[in-house]
Amino acid sequence: MNQPILRPYYIQVSMYLIDNQHEIDSGISRREPSKSDSLNITMIDFQSHETITLKMAFLTPISSSYLPRLYSRLSAHDAAAEAKSMVCLSNAYSLLHRTSTCKAGFSSHLEKSESYYFKVSSSVTDFSTPEVPVESSIVKGDTWSIHKFGGTCVGTSQRIQNVANIVMEDSSERKLVVVSAMSKVTDMMYDLIEKAQSRDDSYELALDAVYEKHKLTALDLLDGDELASFLSTLSLDINNLKAMLRAIYIAGHGTESFSAFVAGHGELWSAQILSSVLRKGGIDCNWMDTRDVLIVTPAGSNQVDPDYEESEQRLDNWLLKNPSKVVVATGFIASTPQNIPTTLKRDGSDFSAAIMGALFRARQVTIWTDVDGVYSADPRKVSEAVILNTLSYQEAWEMSYFGANVLHPRTIIPVMQYDIPIVIRNIFNLSAPGTKICREPITVIENEENQKFETYVKGFATIDNLALVNVEGTGMAGVPGTASAIFGAVKDVGANVIMISQASSEHSVCFAVPEKEVKAVAKALEAKFRQALNAGRLSQVAVIPNCSILAAVGQKMASTPGVSATLFNALAKANINVRAIAQGCSEYNITVVVKREDCVRALRAVHSRFYLSKTSIAVGVIGPGLIGATLLNQLRDQAAVLKEKSKTDLRVMGIIGSKKMLLSDSGIDLFKWKEHLKEKGEKADMEKFVHHVHGNHFIPNTVLVDCTSSTNVADHYHDWLHTGIHVITPNKKANSGPLDKYLKLRALQRQSFTHYFYEATVGAGLPIMHTLRDLLQTGDKIIRIEGIFSGTLSYIFNNFVDTRAFSEVVMEAKAAGYTEPDPRDDLAGTDVARKVIILARECGLNLELSDIPVQSLVPDPLKETASVDDFMQQLPSFDSDIATKRQAAEDAGEVLRYVGVVDVKNQKGAVELQRYKKQHPFAQLSGSDNIIAFTTERYNKQPLIVRGPGAGAEVTAGGVFSDILRLASNLGAPSY
Ligand code: ADP
Ligand code: ASP
Ligand code: MG
Repeated sequence: MNQPILRPYYIQVSMYLIDNQHEIDSGISRREPSKSDSLNITMIDFQSHETITLKMAFLTPISSSYLPRLYSRLSAHDAAAEAKSMVCLSNAYSLLHRTSTCKAGFSSHLEKSESYYFKVSSSVTDFSTPEVPVESSIVKGDTWSIHKFGGTCVGTSQRIQNVANIVMEDSSERKLVVVSAMSKVTDMMYDLIEKAQSRDDSYELALDAVYEKHKLTALDLLDGDELASFLSTLSLDINNLKAMLRAIYIAGHGTESFSAFVAGHGELWSAQILSSVLRKGGIDCNWMDTRDVLIVTPAGSNQVDPDYEESEQRLDNWLLKNPSKVVVATGFIASTPQNIPTTLKRDGSDFSAAIMGALFRARQVTIWTDVDGVYSADPRKVSEAVILNTLSYQEAWEMSYFGANVLHPRTIIPVMQYDIPIVIRNIFNLSAPGTKICREPITVIENEENQKFETYVKGFATIDNLALVNVEGTGMAGVPGTASAIFGAVKDVGANVIMISQASSEHSVCFAVPEKEVKAVAKALEAKFRQALNAGRLSQVAVIPNCSILAAVGQKMASTPGVSATLFNALAKANINVRAIAQGCSEYNITVVVKREDCVRALRAVHSRFYLSKTSIAVGVIGPGLIGATLLNQLRDQAAVLKEKSKTDLRVMGIIGSKKMLLSDSGIDLFKWKEHLKEKGEKADMEKFVHHVHGNHFIPNTVLVDCTSSTNVADHYHDWLHTGIHVITPNKKANSGPLDKYLKLRALQRQSFTHYFYEATVGAGLPIMHTLRDLLQTGDKIIRIEGIFSGTLSYIFNNFVDTRAFSEVVMEAKAAGYTEPDPRDDLAGTDVARKVIILARECGLNLELSDIPVQSLVPDPLKETASVDDFMQQLPSFDSDIATKRQAAEDAGEVLRYVGVVDVKNQKGAVELQRYKKQHPFAQLSGSDNIIAFTTERYNKQPLIVRGPGAGAEVTAGGVFSDILRLASNLGAPSY
């Protein structure tokens, strides 16, 4: 005969006035196991009412192994009142129906009186169910396989049927199936408690919804006795919950075990439904209320520790009484050693399955969920995350501990001691093999392009809503016990420390706690260290709110040279500031703390650096005019090749013109951008545009490409670079604008890891800036740069030969579209001067545009002429002046060329008409070619010459495009 197990029982008393159903007093009590107990209730002030109804309910959990018998009694100081009140409801129905609570109560009618004092007493007696015939031995070991089905797996009746099919198809000899509540049900249950506690009447409707959901599910799946039995259980449970919630409502408070008791119903119902479905499918199957088996002790900070010994004993008892080969067990719920219902806390069903795996010494634990396995990062945050075929126990543990909620963090430990593998599989994709978690760390993985590669970094996970606490002061160094005092104070307020970091100088200790606990932590620390703070031994206890943790996980990762360097490099390149770092000696994990708003970008940046062959950049194009449109077309035509060959994913997330802009969350269709901008474009708003392009969480890098010639747009560069946005432009305004602004911009570019490229500002796509920078960076000294920087003026002077008139050539150039609409813009030389200034500044000369003497080719009297036509008409009358110059040159065997000069040696620049020998490279040009000669210490006798077409939309856009690719390779794209 089994020993009866004494359980605590609950006394719940609600009292109502019968005339208006208004409660006047109530009491809830939970007692340790005892034979009897009582609750005193005082009822006063009944004058205005004729009668009252007193309703009482006693609740105690019951199980299959014993059934309690409850007695209740009401006594009043007035014997007459007491006699009248005794209309005791028997406890009999609790015994008849298998429900998880036993209830006894009564209602009584009392006459109006001044006041009554009642004593309510009850007693509980346990007695065991008759002994069950015993199987000769309890079977445990690798004939058992454990399956756990998460909430989404049992979310609908169809899915439950699907689960049943999977269980039936598993050929294991014995199976234990752990189920979660149907998806959202646990949330609904906690919501009921929340509502009742805050005296929100809508809990009743919400409970009805819970009832309906399960009733409809059962109606879909079951029939006959199974259906009737489940529905009757469900109704009883719901009635009990109603009473319990009512009590919570009245008290305005529910204890933790009340909550646990209510919340666990989701699992009770899903397990019973699934076992009925399996029985309907011909499987001999029992369901297990794991509160009868799993014993756990509270371990603080929302955790419980399994009592394996006690649980094993209870499991053996259970198996003796329920000798079946297929068992459906409730996940999530358990009991305390005092038999009070409790839970393994949110998402705890994985943990339940793992504990069961250990208790059964099972062959394998399969966790079924809604993803193909463990991804290298949360797939909701990183769309390119890849499935990890294997993970070591430690790796899985670290991943889950640091926020990968595919697995409850406590799932690993129970199975690890018996070497039981865990396999994570997708119920919606049976063809996916899933992720196997076992002892051996395997470092070869496959990325999304099915390339196998070795990596010591397995995955990344994040935890949000943290705050950093920094305790700082010179008085901490070398003082033993400081850390203990700090963390003692943190423990005293019950806060959970997620990460700790202390620099070896010992001047500061920094740690992360959940944001909601930080206030209390800071207060406790300030109180504890008040004296040290006052004395100046500690300088501050600082709180840095809104932080997130990003953890990189992988066996041996931290001991492999270069891994952390790559990690921090990727973060730096995404312009993410690291607030704190921790690396455990375990070498499984490197943890960094970043600002919350940077977290997903950080995750994306490091993930793509380690896992993907792809560097992804969000592109925002400003100014879809001639150059912008050409660039968009070039991007469109080259996108696929870049993706495949250079592993670079360029996504245009926004295009903004002067009036309209087009934004996209996943990338603009570059075949249709023109129509879409026209039809779907919204009002241009630069702030919104930048926020959109940079704000997307899926692409870690952002570049804004300014294809305008606007000073207004250029004025934004500094701010953009400051926020980590890369800038690429053919717009000359920023680099040739005021010197102080330019210097500030370049200084910022150098300090940050943000890039600012402007190759196309000089010579369009010709490699001029790039060549110059290479010369400077390799230590060459520039002596002089001289060049024909204007395609228009190049054309004009290349064709200003023989007897041709200057004005005639200008007209021809205009007609061919080589000039600006007003040719004076070219002839005035300002554009060339801007290029000279850009090159001069690149060489380190601090010159303003106004420092460059410019020889304008616009005759003075025509500078003020109103219209272009007037100018063109009057230009021939000035031909003779320039013709004379040309002739003089010709007579000396020379040609005229309009050039820009940077005289580095003399720190000067100029734009002027110059004469060159006919053999000189500048004399050999054709069409609208640019030519630039760099005379340097190394290229002294012969200058280094870059020559080629230096104007036009195609080549300018090409120059911009090459800057974008340069950016990609700087961000880690492989070279091709
Ligand atoms: P269940 O209800 O089945 O227990 P959960 O919602 O608890 O399911 O866990 C599965 C979810 O975990 C997935 O849908 C996925 O969005 C999320 N998740 C977070 N990080 C990861 C990761 N690294 N790999 C896989 N899934 C992850
Ligand atoms: N149903 C519980 C919860 O939602 C346990 C679980 O699903 O793992 O938290
Ligand atoms: Mg889960």
